[in-house]
Amino acid sequence: MIRSISLILAIGLSLSVTETYEQVSENGYVLAFLLFAIPLIATIVVLLSKHTAARISIAVTVILFSWLIALLGMSWLYHVRLVTGDLILVDEIVAVLPPIIFLVALWWFTSPIGNKISWVLHRLRFDVLMLLLIVLFILGIQEVEESTGDFGFVWLAILLLFYALAPLYFLTILPTSRIKEGAVKNAITQVASNAGIKKPNIYILHTHYKILNALAYGLLFQRKFVLFSDKLLRDLTQSEVVAVARHEFAHHKFMHTTFLWLTFVCVMLWVFYFTEVAGVELHFLALKSTKWICAIIAFVLVSRQFEKQADTYAVVDFARTSGSDIVTEDAANSMAKALQAIAFLNGHSPQRRDYLHGSISKRQQYLRSLVGSPLLKIPINTRVRFIKIGILSLLVLRFIV
Ligand SMILES: [Zn+2]
Repeated sequence: MIRSISLILAIGLSLSVTETYEQVSENGYVLAFLLFAIPLIATIVVLLSKHTAARISIAVTVILFSWLIALLGMSWLYHVRLVTGDLILVDEIVAVLPPIIFLVALWWFTSPIGNKISWVLHRLRFDVLMLLLIVLFILGIQEVEESTGDFGFVWLAILLLFYALAPLYFLTILPTSRIKEGAVKNAITQVASNAGIKKPNIYILHTHYKILNALAYGLLFQRKFVLFSDKLLRDLTQSEVVAVARHEFAHHKFMHTTFLWLTFVCVMLWVFYFTEVAGVELHFLALKSTKWICAIIAFVLVSRQFEKQADTYAVVDFARTSGSDIVTEDAANSMAKALQAIAFLNGHSPQRRDYLHGSISKRQQYLRSLVGSPLLKIPINTRVRFIKIGILSLLVLRFIV
């Protein structure tokens, strides 16, 4: 789901905040040329010529790269700070504005649909905000940490802020709407009820039929969201949608989002503790990256087990609703077929690597290996229980020592 424009903006911004600015380039004319003149010329050239997709992409590339050169080669962020000061996030937001303004203008004038506002908002959400907001959130955390030096308190505040803001991110930044009444909604609601979710929030993610995906979000005591993309609901059969819904509601049933978040916080707290106890005078940047690298590794490892449990639950729920107490071949096939269809419709090979889920063909192999297992005795469920106990114990221990 990560788009290249947002990736370039995110990488540029992340790299520029780590710069020390010992050598600052003072050439204001070059800076203005890179930030305003070049993007303006690129935009005007496209507007005056035929708006082909290739020309628009060239203009986008020119806008982004001249910003990158200004940012990383001409100390653009340093110049912003001369005006705004190093206020938390204000300087970063101002620094990233010039390319966004030109992109908005370009999207407005080259909109392929009549409703220009809708097109610009769609592109802004998908190509800019979806990733940039997360990066700004992380940069904000680091700035608060640096200015207060109090890691325990900062992390508690961040935990609460994230808890409060995440549902807003899903409902306002992502273009979503509630699913319409009908057979598909009823079938998904039944899946939710089997998983013990009483009032599920089932949404459609509008992607102009470009993305086929589904996701579950909702922490402890929060509303439980499941988002299905428009393409997924249009292109999968109802039984395939139900199989995907079983996987997504399993994430809610077993509180996976909450435990992933706790994993992340747990790693952050322990890495900081160890560097403190060991008296390692890590350069601040090294400490920052160590924390994030450890957190991402833990996140991927735990997430893989959770995904496996969600696939397993999809099969178990199928078997149980068809009256069996062991995994049947039909049950294993229900999810395996849905995965096959997703790979095919996304134009991906089933062998394609996926760090969070494992490849589709590995997942299918695993599901078929479950045939014949009693529903109550599937090893992954015990393994995940131990992982959760482990995470909670580590968190408690951190507050005791
Ligand atoms: Zn999943």
